[in-house]
Amino acid sequence: MAVPHILVVEDEASLSLLLQYNLEAEGYTVDIADRGDEAELKLRETNPDLVLLDWMLPGVSGIELCRRIRARAETATLPVIMLTARGEEAERIRGLSTGADDYIVKPFSVPELVARVGALLRRAKPKTVSRILQSGDIELDRETHRVHRASRELQLGPTEFKLLEFFMQSPDRVFSREQLLDGVWGHDVYVDERTVDVHVGRLRKAINKGRAKDPIRTVRGSGYSLDKRFMDTD
Ligand code: CA
Repeated sequence: MAVPHILVVEDEASLSLLLQYNLEAEGYTVDIADRGDEAELKLRETNPDLVLLDWMLPGVSGIELCRRIRARAETATLPVIMLTARGEEAERIRGLSTGADDYIVKPFSVPELVARVGALLRRAKPKTVSRILQSGDIELDRETHRVHRASRELQLGPTEFKLLEFFMQSPDRVFSREQLLDGVWGHDVYVDERTVDVHVGRLRKAINKGRAKDPIRTVRGSGYSLDKRFMDTD
């Protein structure tokens, strides 16, 4: 399964770095935003699996951001944990009524926060848990590790399988080589970025046999994406 991606929205730099350090140590990939408005952009760009959201933020407040997350169809079920100040019961209740899935009171213990993150990711049913992923005529089964294009079964190596799974989780999103390394190989494995090109090449070869339409788009200077348009035109 791909590495869960967490967005930390917190304006206290020491706290966001502490969270990043500890969440990365658990194997998650982490992005940080220190303003509410910046967080909105990152939400669209990075498509996280969970958000840790501070209540008091410059730009857009945590509460308002949570409301907006719930209002957008793409993020309506995105797991959100709010970070609130101690003792502010009214805030917590308001946070939960705005749609946060959980809250944690500052100052908190990092192991507890990490445990809550894990619990919420397991409880939530994000895109990462459905067994079958479908993009156009490509079907990927996470349990049997079989991939079909139209009715033909494809023979993919384990890395190509993970790469395709990663792309299929976020169609149309452009991933840099670095993001692909983090998401597919894991962030503590040292692999050269050119390795990504090699495996994308193998994946292409495996899925495009005898077919004209290449679902993987090379974005110059940026990276790769699974092109949504290929699905419509078949
Ligand atoms: Ca704050």
